[in-house]
Amino acid sequence: MPKETVEQYIGNVTDTVSSFWHGLSITLSYLLRRPITTQYPDRTELPVRDTLPPRYRGFLEVDASICTGCQACERACPIGCIQINLEKDAANPKLRVVTQFDIDEAKCMFCGLCVEPCPTGAIQHTREFEASQRSVRNLTFRWADPENPFPVYKVVKGAEYFPRAPLGSILRARLEAKRWDAPGPEFLPPDPNAAAPKKAGPGAKAAAAKPAPAKVAEAKPAEAVQAAAQTAAPAEATAAPVAPAAPAAAQPDGGAAAAPTPPNPGDGQPA
Ligand code: SF4
Ligand code: SF4
Repeated sequence: MPKETVEQYIGNVTDTVSSFWHGLSITLSYLLRRPITTQYPDRTELPVRDTLPPRYRGFLEVDASICTGCQACERACPIGCIQINLEKDAANPKLRVVTQFDIDEAKCMFCGLCVEPCPTGAIQHTREFEASQRSVRNLTFRWADPENPFPVYKVVKGAEYFPRAPLGSILRARLEAKRWDAPGPEFLPPDPNAAAPKKAGPGAKAAAAKPAPAKVAEAKPAEAVQAAAQTAAPAEATAAPVAPAAPAAAQPDGGAAAAPTPPNPGDGQPA
């Protein structure tokens, strides 16, 4: 074997052992050091939410005890995350109660626009951000119970202070009570009265534009007379007066009744 080949072979072996030992020494040095990383979430010194800035925009919390039911937050939301429903109290018709106050945190973009107009500070961002759920529909937080609605808060004239619960305390209790792997609510069964989707093919569009003959008699009295004259005997058509359609059945433009809008899949979810 030539001398150069032997020297090259020995050099390669030496380089291999040296680089291997260099890498291993780095690994061993980190093995003996205190770890920089922290196991999350159970070995953090403080809960992560307590280390976040005070103005952190986490999940929204509603303090029902100071909610006036003004719906300003619902109107302010640009993407319709908030659904509020008010009704008269069955026992006291002068009193209004909130039967629904849902916030879809899965849709929320944490912009804070709903917080700004709240007159009492009832709705606020918290520093809560952990809510792993098995079903995304469980991220609709329901702040009102339809079975036990809460009465609206009456603001005392000139009041500047509203007794709010400590920020985050209501939400934290709810999140801790909620199992992360709870099954999501059942999907609603298909509505038998639901109309066809708005986006339909050209054939369907043409059919919609051309109302069915049976409905013509209701919607357009003049056309109904013409249709009756074509189908019935001429003597009968002239002898029998055609009753005009009821005004409520006809559309303002005289056309057929418009197809109802399909329901929003997010609406009316069971609690
Ligand atoms: S934070 Fe923004 S997106 Fe979320 S509910 Fe409020 S207004 Fe809507
Ligand atoms: S949370 Fe505030 S803005 Fe929303 S309905 Fe209640 S009082 Fe009005």
